[in-house]
Amino acid sequence: MSLKDKQHILCTEYAADVDNIRARIDSSDEHEIFVGPGWYGILAATNYALNVIDPDYKVTQVKEKLGGLRYYYSPSTGVSKHDQLQMREIVEDAERVAWQTCEECGDSGRLHKNSWNVKTLCEECLSRQSEHPEKEVH
Ligand SMILES: [Zn+2]
Repeated sequence: MSLKDKQHILCTEYAADVDNIRARIDSSDEHEIFVGPGWYGILAATNYALNVIDPDYKVTQVKEKLGGLRYYYSPSTGVSKHDQLQMREIVEDAERVAWQTCEECGDSGRLHKNSWNVKTLCEECLSRQSEHPEKEVH
């Protein structure tokens, strides 16, 4: 299966989850999720788990930074310290899983560094990007 096909499946499968996360972002100018489709499954699971604890929690931003997932959120008012701690653990778990998941296709990956990029990728996506470094997929 080509990367495009894989990404199409991921985008379709997690479209509702990604929309749900997007709807939690307040500011209109950053109404986006800046990670590749390979991490959508992680985002969906994270949002689901956070929603169980705090259905009204807000998302500030979701992005990739230095090859890692950053899931910035804020609990709604009135959420107990205990629940807030649980929410933090959920997000830390997600960020840990992302370090082992290819951001492009969702296969198992690891952090790769080169002169132009730091990305968590599987070997296949890494070689694809090495061939076309200027055509990085987002
Ligand atoms: Zn990959």
